[in-house]
Amino acid sequence: MHAERQLKILAKEIVACERCPRLRAYCQEIGRVKRRAYRDETYWAKPVPGFGDPRAKLLIVGLAPGAHGANRTGRMFTGDRSGEYLYRALHETGFASQPNAVSREDGLVLTGAYIGAPGRCAPPDNKPAKEELANCREYLEREIDLLKEVRVVVALGSIGFATYLSILRDRGLIRRLIDFKFGHGVEYPIPNGPVLIGCYHPSQQNTSTGRLTHEMLQGVFRTADLLVRAELPARFEDDRRRGRPARSGGPPST
Ligand code: SF4
Repeated sequence: MHAERQLKILAKEIVACERCPRLRAYCQEIGRVKRRAYRDETYWAKPVPGFGDPRAKLLIVGLAPGAHGANRTGRMFTGDRSGEYLYRALHETGFASQPNAVSREDGLVLTGAYIGAPGRCAPPDNKPAKEELANCREYLEREIDLLKEVRVVVALGSIGFATYLSILRDRGLIRRLIDFKFGHGVEYPIPNGPVLIGCYHPSQQNTSTGRLTHEMLQGVFRTADLLVRAELPARFEDDRRRGRPARSGGPPST
C-alpha cells in the first residue's frame, strides 16, 4: 500500500488511542477549561498524529503537543510560540510553504519534511511519564518504517533524541546509547541510516531565555537541507565506512 495511505490509516489509529488514561484526561480537561484567548474555540483534545510529506527526506522528532497549541488545533506545532519558531525556520529553509501555522486549515504544506514525536498527547508540565513514552513509541516507529526516504533526522530536545536512539538500538543499528550525547548542533551519522542532528527544542523556556535563537534553529535546518540535497559530506564518509557511531561538534556549519 502507498505510504501516504498508510500514514493516513496510522493517523486515524493515533487519534483514537486511549492507552494513557492520565494524558487523555488531561488533554480533555484542558479542552474543557480552555485558555481565555481561545474560549470561543473547540479544542482538538485528542492525540495528535504526525504531519508532513510522505516522501520526506527530513524527519523532525519533537516532544509532545502543547496544551494550547497542537492539543487545541490538532496539528503538530500549530497555534503556539514553539510552532512560530519552528515553521519560520522551516519556511526559510524551503521545507514549509509558509512561516505561520495557526490551524489545520491554514494551507500550510511541508515539502520534504515530516514531523513526528515520541508523545502524541499533551502532558502536564510538558513532561510525559516514562511509561507513557513507552506506550507511544510504537507510533513513531511505524512512521519511521513508512518514511523510507528519510536521510536526516532532527531531534528537537533530549527526549526526542533519546527516543529515536532507543529505536535504533532496539533494531540493532547502534550498540550503545552512551556514545550519543545530546547537544545543539551535534551530528551523528548512523551506519546504514540517516544523519541524526540534535537541536534544542523551540519551547518558550528555551526561546525566551535566549538558549535557542532563531539563527540557531535556522542553522540546524540549513545543515539538514544541505545534507538531504547533497551526497553526505566528506567529513562523514570515514565514520560511515568504519561504522563509527558518533561524531559531534559545536553549532552546525551553515
Ligand atoms: S500519549 Fe500516545 S500512547 Fe498515550 S494515549 Fe496518547 S497517543 Fe496513545
